[in-house]
Amino acid sequence: MKTKIVKIDENNIDPEAIKEAGEVLKNGGLVAFPTETVYGLGGDALNEASSAKIYAAKGRPSDNPLIVHISKMESLSGIVKEIPKAAYLIAEKYWPGPLTMIFHKSDAVPYATTGGLETVAVRMPSHKTARALIDAAGGYVAAPSANRSGRPSPTVARYVIEDLDGQVEMIIDGGEVSIGLESTIIDLTGEHPMILRPGYITQAMLEEAAGEIEVDSTIIDSNSGQAPKAPGMKYRHYAPKGELTIVEGEPEAVVDHINKELTKFLGTDIKTGVIATDETAARYLGGVIKSVGRREDEEAIARHLFRILREFDDDEVQVIFAESFPREGIGQAIMNRLLKAAGHRIVQAKRA
Ligand code: AMP
Ligand code: MG
Repeated sequence: MKTKIVKIDENNIDPEAIKEAGEVLKNGGLVAFPTETVYGLGGDALNEASSAKIYAAKGRPSDNPLIVHISKMESLSGIVKEIPKAAYLIAEKYWPGPLTMIFHKSDAVPYATTGGLETVAVRMPSHKTARALIDAAGGYVAAPSANRSGRPSPTVARYVIEDLDGQVEMIIDGGEVSIGLESTIIDLTGEHPMILRPGYITQAMLEEAAGEIEVDSTIIDSNSGQAPKAPGMKYRHYAPKGELTIVEGEPEAVVDHINKELTKFLGTDIKTGVIATDETAARYLGGVIKSVGRREDEEAIARHLFRILREFDDDEVQVIFAESFPREGIGQAIMNRLLKAAGHRIVQAKRA
């Protein structure tokens, strides 16, 4: 299949291009498009065959359900059995935005979209191109991240093209996304609302809207031995091709520890790399050094992390060390993704 690549500026949307992309979706085809979180791989959420195509294009296990994207609140009742009060409270504050809510699904949603589950995940993105596309497609677009399964989610169109060229009808290039981590997922089908995947919208923010909220304990605990409640969270994810190790501890001790490790590779033909911060990047002894941003700027770290993981692959780096980050606020989402990328390989830097 020849993939058509179209540039669309969120602030100056070409209506003809959106109309064409909407037609592709209505006809059962696939369109990758930018959202504020990461790029999505879209198909008609109510068409079984489209969902099957999404799984095939991504190489995604079929028990890993898709998130259905809507553009207006009125669309929600068409795909869910009931809308709990908490959903209205949360939607009022955080929709449109980087937040997904899980509901009991209505018969309109095929099991092919929900990975066989009786529940459906729904998000209303804020990205203008995404919203225009959802409207043009008829209102319901299933869209997982637009990467091959297991790889870091794409935050720029270049990596969508790398993973999906030739497998989808169209890729919309909207430049770099603004958030860079996938949406927070909150399940509203249990006794209490529960966060299944951390993201930009934090537990504290959700509690402001809807009172006490639980967190799936498998999100940050590497060794709980329990299965995560979001099926997709159990899979190896975000991994760069090189072996990634996170080094935790006092910032000074972390730099020393990583430098000690790097010297072991000096004079070998093994290519090393470091995920550093602006404060430390100049202090590493060798290899490919990439800064995710200033340490206090969590938003920048979130925005840059996946791109940097991909760049280490472009540079064919074989051994990567990453600084670690506090696990509060957005940091919880950052560390959740970084730990998965590292296959939970984390070491403590000893104070010198
Ligand atoms: P992605 O769109 O690639 O970011 O992945 C979607 C995530 O949402 C995966 O981790 C899924 O397991 C999760 N998810 C989607 N639908 C449901 C659902 N009905 N129940 C629990 N988790 C879900
Ligand atoms: Mg994904």
